[in-house]
Amino acid sequence: MKNSLSKPTPLPSITLNDVGGLQEEMKEEILQTLSILKEPERSVKMGIKPPKGILLYGPPGTGKTLLAQAIAQELKANFFSASGSAFNEMFIGVGASRVRSLFTSARKQGPAVIFIDEVDALAGKRKPNGGEEGEKTLTELLVQLDGGHDNDGILFIAATNRKDMLDEAFLRPGRIDFSFQVPLPDTKGRREIIDIHIKGKELSDEVRASLDELAESTSGFSGAELSSLFATASRLALRKGRTVLLKSDLDYALDRTILGSSSRALLDV
Ligand code: ATP
Repeated sequence: MKNSLSKPTPLPSITLNDVGGLQEEMKEEILQTLSILKEPERSVKMGIKPPKGILLYGPPGTGKTLLAQAIAQELKANFFSASGSAFNEMFIGVGASRVRSLFTSARKQGPAVIFIDEVDALAGKRKPNGGEEGEKTLTELLVQLDGGHDNDGILFIAATNRKDMLDEAFLRPGRIDFSFQVPLPDTKGRREIIDIHIKGKELSDEVRASLDELAESTSGFSGAELSSLFATASRLALRKGRTVLLKSDLDYALDRTILGSSSRALLDV
């Protein structure tokens, strides 16, 4: 555990163009934020404070982690990543010490992006009778995010499916400067995501001709589900000894994905 928090995660080479379905306005805001972070001295001269913390919120599988990775790559920053639940411990002080060690490692190896997924497990609203350990861990996170520390060269990115569960103090500007909603993609977004996931794949003409229709008929699918759709179809083609993906592979994968989602929905009930 200590090692995984103190070492950056190697990232595949990705850019913002590998994240499909981002709304134009959001893309622009992200690009603007990146340009401020790339030239912090210039921004400070112009009276603009470089942002320290960003929150990405939205349903599972919509590309929040992917987006955080793309931001880190654009900034040529080391990527330190952890799940909020990795800080939940029974023993008083262990979670807080993990938070400290994560920030200390990132400061030593800056520029760095610290990414915490499922941040609600770490920065959830404090409950009157909540555990002392959780409270201590959150307090440590707030301390580490505050100005008392030299966080130049560190960008904190948190992701959650439950923004409503987050502690108000955590969301304060200076800790979290921007919140971006990453929703399920619309038809145009799904078409963009499909394009990303067919890159490098050999598709039959019939499959190529059906991609617009696929984007239209997959309402409610997340980017992760679309990605898994093509991965399943490709595995099937390979099993059948083909490199080209046929419509029958895609139809099979679609059935499997829809079946998977509906059984998950049933389990959620
Ligand atoms: P969770 O909330 O469950 O942590 P997430 O929002 O962080 O999910 P990711 O882990 O980024 O989602 O997505 C998983 C995978 O799904 C990505 O690695 C990518 O292959 C694919 N994917 C998801 N969203 C997109 C997207 N917007 N564009 C392209 N691919 C996507």
